[in-house]
Amino acid sequence: MEKLIIIGGGSAGLAGAIYASRALLNPILFEGIPGGQLGLTSDVENYPGFENPILGPILMQQFRNQALRFGTRIVSQKIKEVKTSSVIKVMTETDEEYETEALLIATGAEPKWLGLQSEQRLRGHGVSACATCDGFFFKDKDVVVVGGGDSAMEEALYLTKFAKNVIVVHRRDTFRASKIMQERVLNHPQIKVLWNTTVKEVIGEDRVEAVKVIANGQEQTVSTQGLFLAIGHIPATTFLADSGVQLDEKGYIYTKERVMYENIEQIKSGYTLPYRFSTNIKGVFAAGDCVDYTYRQAATASGMAVSAVLEVEKYLQEA
Ligand code: NAP
Repeated sequence: MEKLIIIGGGSAGLAGAIYASRALLNPILFEGIPGGQLGLTSDVENYPGFENPILGPILMQQFRNQALRFGTRIVSQKIKEVKTSSVIKVMTETDEEYETEALLIATGAEPKWLGLQSEQRLRGHGVSACATCDGFFFKDKDVVVVGGGDSAMEEALYLTKFAKNVIVVHRRDTFRASKIMQERVLNHPQIKVLWNTTVKEVIGEDRVEAVKVIANGQEQTVSTQGLFLAIGHIPATTFLADSGVQLDEKGYIYTKERVMYENIEQIKSGYTLPYRFSTNIKGVFAAGDCVDYTYRQAATASGMAVSAVLEVEKYLQEA
C-alpha cells in the first residue's frame, strides 16, 4: 500500500511530488508526456525565479530533477483506470495495479488545435494557444485570434496591450461568449472581427507570416505575425470515467474548493470532507489544469498542487 500516488508529470504533478517527497510521503508519480504542456513549449519568461527566459522542457527537467532528488519514484507510464470502491487503486497501461491511501490527480488539459499541418509546424514560432504566455512576444505586431467563446474574448483583449491590431476569426455570425466580454471586444478600437470565417492554412517558412482564411467560399490572405487558438481545452480525465470521481460536463474535476467557490448548490452535499482540494471521493485529491479552466499557468497549477499536497498530509495524519 502506497501513501500517495500522483498522476501527471507536468508542473502540477511535479510540484506536488517535490512537497510530498520532502514531507516523507514517498510518492510514486506516473507521467505521460514528460513535463506536460510546458514540456512542449519554447521560451518561458513568466515562471517566477528565472530572470532570463528558460526553455519549457529545461524548466520541467529541473522540476523533475528536484522531485527525484528528494526521492520521488517517477514511472513513465500512463494510468488507464482508477478504482475507488473499497481502497483506491490505479491501473497502468500495462495492467499493473497499485493501491494507495491517497491519490493526487494532476493530469492537466490540452488546448484544442485546428488540426492543420501548417499550424503544428509553426507551433512556438508564432502559433500559440496561450496569450498570457506568449502575448509579450508580439509587441507592435498584428495577431489573429480564433474562437468565439470567453477565452477568445479574453485573449483578444489581453493581446491589445501588446499587438497593434487584433483580428478575431470566428466560424459563426455570433459569439458564444458572455455579453459583457463580447461588448468589450466589439467596441475595442484595436480589434476587428471576421465573421463566418475559418482558417485554412498558416503561411510562413520559419515564422507565421499570414493566414489563409475562407468566408462564404471566398479565400483571403490575412497578414499576421501571430495566430492564437482559443477554441477550448480538453481536460485529460477520460481515464476517470468509471472511478466515481465527479467531473463537470466538460470533463474538469470538481474539488471541494471549486464547488464552494462556484457555489454549486446541487452537489455541495457530496463535498463534506474538510480538505479543500479533495474530490467527492475520500483520499482522492486533484489540482492543476484538470480542475482549473481559468488560469492555466504553470505557476498557478503548481501552486494549487502544493496546496493539495498540504491537504493530503493533513488527511493522512487524520485518517
Ligand atoms: P468554449 O466556450 O467552448 O468556446 C470555444 C469557441 O471556439 C467557440 O466559439 C467555438 O465555436 C470555437 N471552436 C471550437 N472548435 C473550433 C474549431 N475547430 N474551429 C473553429 N472554431 C472552433 O471554450 P472557452 O472559450 O475556452 O471557454 C471554456 C469555458 O471556460 C466556458 O464555459 C467559458 O465561459 C469559461 N471561461 C470563462 C472565462 C471568464 O469568465 N472570465 C474566461 C475564459 C473561459 P462555436 O461557437 O461555433 O461552437
